[in-house]
Amino acid sequence: MTALDDLPTTRIVHGSCHHDCPDSCGWLVTVEERDDSDQDDSERDDTASGSVAVQLRGNPAHPYSAGELCPKVNRFLDRVYSPERVTTPMRRVGAKGEGQFEPITWDEALATIASRLQTVIDTSGPEAIMPYSNAGNQSVLALMYSERFWNRLGGTRLVRALCGTTVGAGVQMTNGTTRGLDPQELRHSKLIILWATNTRLTNRHLWPTIEAAMADGARLIVIDPIRTITADYADEFIQPLPGTDIALMLAMMNVLIAEDLIDHAWVAAHTLGFEELAAHVAEWTPERASQITGVDASVITQLARAYGTTRPVAIRTLIGAEHHENGAMFFRTMACLPALVGAWQDRGGGLARSIGVWSEELIDYGALTQPQLLGDRSPRWLNMSRLGEALTDPTLDPPVQALIVWGANPMVVTPNAELIRRGLERDDLFTVVHEQFITDTARYADIVLPATTQIEATDVVTSWGHLYLGWNEAAIAPVGQCVSNSELHRRLASAMGFTEPELFEDDLAVLKAALPTVDLDALRRDGFMRVPYPHDGRPFGDGVFPTRSGRVEFISETLVSLGQPALPTFVPPHESLGGDHELAHRFPFQLLTPKRHTRFLNSSYSHLPKHGPLEDGPFVEICPSDAVILGVTDGDCVQVRNDRALLRLPVRISTRLRPGVVAIPWGWWQHQHIDGRAANSLTNDTLTDWGGGVAFSDTLVAIETT
Ligand code: SF4
Repeated sequence: MTALDDLPTTRIVHGSCHHDCPDSCGWLVTVEERDDSDQDDSERDDTASGSVAVQLRGNPAHPYSAGELCPKVNRFLDRVYSPERVTTPMRRVGAKGEGQFEPITWDEALATIASRLQTVIDTSGPEAIMPYSNAGNQSVLALMYSERFWNRLGGTRLVRALCGTTVGAGVQMTNGTTRGLDPQELRHSKLIILWATNTRLTNRHLWPTIEAAMADGARLIVIDPIRTITADYADEFIQPLPGTDIALMLAMMNVLIAEDLIDHAWVAAHTLGFEELAAHVAEWTPERASQITGVDASVITQLARAYGTTRPVAIRTLIGAEHHENGAMFFRTMACLPALVGAWQDRGGGLARSIGVWSEELIDYGALTQPQLLGDRSPRWLNMSRLGEALTDPTLDPPVQALIVWGANPMVVTPNAELIRRGLERDDLFTVVHEQFITDTARYADIVLPATTQIEATDVVTSWGHLYLGWNEAAIAPVGQCVSNSELHRRLASAMGFTEPELFEDDLAVLKAALPTVDLDALRRDGFMRVPYPHDGRPFGDGVFPTRSGRVEFISETLVSLGQPALPTFVPPHESLGGDHELAHRFPFQLLTPKRHTRFLNSSYSHLPKHGPLEDGPFVEICPSDAVILGVTDGDCVQVRNDRALLRLPVRISTRLRPGVVAIPWGWWQHQHIDGRAANSLTNDTLTDWGGGVAFSDTLVAIETT
């Protein structure tokens, strides 16, 4: 029998989900303190002694996530204590890509890294060293502490625009700001348009708000090139061809103006360029847009009428639509719609998209990133979406000779992945990857460094889906020899012989400096804190917009200075719709790579036993009529190919897609595919019109039977 004194003591710790997801859920970690002092070192088990996390559950007090996590994160402790975790530094012993490593000490790893980086600096300068990080952990320190080190080093800097940046860049050209409507305000809407967002899958904690609005009489319209699980719950579903939405919006404007459904008083008082816009969209009849979008003209007309006659009316969108060559223009055009009907006057009216800006306005980025460490140097910038090009371009001067990766798995998440592979295979490229698992990218590393999970490091999480900051307390000590992103960069700074005190500041001191107006003690005590937002729920209730004119700009001089059209304009993406007949003839299907699975997110989780194997896939979805033309049935193996790669995949016949459009759900690792190539081996790395994003969804492929 266990004596009471022998029972472990238990404590509960506040945390916040760090994943690339708008919901930023609050969680509670139950931690047992286990005494193993009577065991000798050989008996000690890291997962059974000291502080051990025994349960991780949603925080029922969290105002947004309300105690519910998701199937990905419900088993987060399996991830923390996975026997596959990287827990020590390792050195590659096999060929690049083989994934063969041997453990080494931190001292050995850091000495090797410092020596190799110094050699690169001495021979080619610091710009031959390239950082690569993404949204693996969205917490403040995890994302941004590293900037101090990279400012001091003077290495190449990364345009971090793989996802999300283009949306803001688009909206900003119309509204002058990335501020927008809190999605929870949809509770007050009477017409909700979910445009290119699969809320029930990728923003699940917003769905109760929409359900509540619908119970109060709101109508729900879903617009998406794929019939998603969200579309199944809509009052109406509209399915334009991918990349054609701007034509649909211009035709909506045509109807709104032709049928006099605009709010003349609001337009006169708060917008710029209405006359020019009206003349511009006069030619965008529903019939013309129908030919481009594949949506019936009568449906477009009815959509515009509903939008122009219902109050409050809100459009909700997220990131997906930015992944076209005309991605920024999509959001610039969309932002014109609420202004035409005066939607911003009403509580529950306007445009609800990412709202991270309301939290980010609390961050002192100078204090966080210490830009003075850069001195008077102006390093080059390379776009993260073009990593393959950066690693293989023979004209790049200096060429990238060292690559440091953390919080990212570009071999799975970045487009044109076969070009990235060719770069990572270079014998003369020195690659360091800081990771929790041996990912498809880590397999190419010379040195792998062990990374903490979210319950092993203290941080603050800002959300782009709701208005609450989240505290994340380190619940347990780092597993093995793992270190956080901030500790990694402190160690790198020390190894390089840097001495500036800013490079070694501890995490809590940095958080205090970076969030000067936030009561961190209260945030730590409560686990979450609402950020400032207009009390009446209307972000532009006064009709003032921070553009040059102080108005919503239907016409934009700023865009002209960027070489873009002054007015909302439909420019067909080159690869998918732009009239490259030779390409369209060789590759007649447009490929989408949507999120589809509930148990994994981007490249995280699909390799873990209770996640990926419980999902179906990978596969290619083809609509029934295309399957007949191709002569394939469910389960047949086909080749999906273009000039970038060839994948063999089983067919899934699906009524979710229009003819001419196919889909490969993404997130599976390479070894989970027949030929070791994943969806992003096929995708397009052309950049968007502005904003630095990338046109994943303007990808053409051929489908061939094997
Ligand atoms: S991945 Fe998203 S929905 Fe799941 S727990 Fe994290 S924030 Fe919540």
